[in-house]
Amino acid sequence: MNYRSTRDAKVSVPSAVAISKGISEDGGLFVPEYIPTITAEEFETLKGLDYIGRAKAVLAKYLDDFTAEEIDYCVNGAYKGTFDNDQPAPLYKLDDGKYVLELWHGPTCAFKDLALQLLPFLLTTAAKKVGKGKSVILVATSGDTGKAALEGFCDVPNTEIIVFYPNNGVSPMQKLQMDTQKGENVYVCSINGNFDDAQSGVKKIFTDANVKETLRANGMEFSSANSINWGRLVPQIVYYVSAYCDLLNKGENLRNGFNVVVPTGNFGNILAAFYAKCMGVPIAKLVCASNANNVLTDFINTGVYDRNRKFYTTISPSMDILISSNLERMVYHLCGNDACKTALLQKQLAETGKYTLDAELLAKLREHYFGGCCDDSQTLDTIKKVFEDRSYLSDTHTAVALKVADEYTALTSDNKPTVIASTASPYKFSASVLKAVAPDKCCDEEFKMVEELKKATKTSAPAPIEALKNATPRFDNVCESDEMVNVVLKVLGL
Ligand SMILES: *Cc1c(COP(=O)(O)O)cnc(C)c1O
Repeated sequence: MNYRSTRDAKVSVPSAVAISKGISEDGGLFVPEYIPTITAEEFETLKGLDYIGRAKAVLAKYLDDFTAEEIDYCVNGAYKGTFDNDQPAPLYKLDDGKYVLELWHGPTCAFKDLALQLLPFLLTTAAKKVGKGKSVILVATSGDTGKAALEGFCDVPNTEIIVFYPNNGVSPMQKLQMDTQKGENVYVCSINGNFDDAQSGVKKIFTDANVKETLRANGMEFSSANSINWGRLVPQIVYYVSAYCDLLNKGENLRNGFNVVVPTGNFGNILAAFYAKCMGVPIAKLVCASNANNVLTDFINTGVYDRNRKFYTTISPSMDILISSNLERMVYHLCGNDACKTALLQKQLAETGKYTLDAELLAKLREHYFGGCCDDSQTLDTIKKVFEDRSYLSDTHTAVALKVADEYTALTSDNKPTVIASTASPYKFSASVLKAVAPDKCCDEEFKMVEELKKATKTSAPAPIEALKNATPRFDNVCESDEMVNVVLKVLGL
């Protein structure tokens, strides 16, 4: 199976090339030329396997230029001994027919670990296959990706990783996680700007021909750990396949399928659910939950994507995004894999910050998706309410999804079983979660609040959070967004 660019129909490359390049030269994203399916018989087998077994089966369908040994090596390396109880994606029953897919049991306590524990293995294996030198990973992060990428790539031979984050757009815990990162091949820098500035800056460096040539002359090549990289997306398909197997094993009635609710920012996680659906997982509605940056809610409701709006810094910072990169892949598939049309829409987006789907495409989009949103005060209310009424403690991102899930049910009376993606541990956002459940205990000391949260909710904090208490920051770099390229060259010694 080859990979196409969303912007140039002539591009067709094997997965190893797509993964090692990260983004196509025309600025488009790599997409599989067809979506492989899983037969009923295969699902029967998958039901009996653990997460690692399921991951191998799904990956083999998309990465058919990898040998079975290579896939074994990558998947074992990513998921053996790195997640609590060796269960990367446990399904927790919230109440009747409602499940929470907990994706935060890895080393950085957010769902990015599912992809970023695997990506370094995929990337270094791919680079070897295509005969590449050192991979330089550039990351723009709204918080969780940065730490998960640093952790995944830390001291991986033949890689160098540079992470940029917006200095006022990440939580203190996220900042501390990144600034304390260990490893000889890592560099962390904050920028004066928001996440979109960081992401645009990274995209610009990627597509700068001069910079690329300088790297090539020195035996290096850029790659991306952002969710624009296919190697980031494909691991995420696995947990929706796995959740389906778990629902079957629990004896849920799935005759009419089930709904999936995803707290969304860059549209990577929910797009993975769409791919799972196309593979044969009986997902009915994909419910896209946004925070106050509700550009996707408006898009799903009206067909107008318009980033010309106020940017809000919210208590769910990993979703503070106005340009959802992965939406480009969705639009490409909606248009019937039409690169010409997708390129045109993306050009409009770059030039005017806006594009509009025609009525037919909008109808297709709405067939699959429901869009809803939730502001900060509703998020806090939801955390409190779900904790008090259903004894479940959620983080600020998951709470957005819980709120929109209830809104969707109330609006449509659709009572199908529902899987809500839980994307971070509540302890990663202790200040906000504490404000929701025990506001009188809030203070300005991050780790004191972790202790208060433990006491107030009788839950325990994940080990990686506890370990941060005694770690000292290594990095305190700041730059302007137009200086990012200089930072990169300097770090690489070029
Ligand atoms: C990244 C992230 C999201 C958004 O996921 P996308 O794939 O970008 O839509 C949601 N919640 C948390 C905690 C995250 O880290």
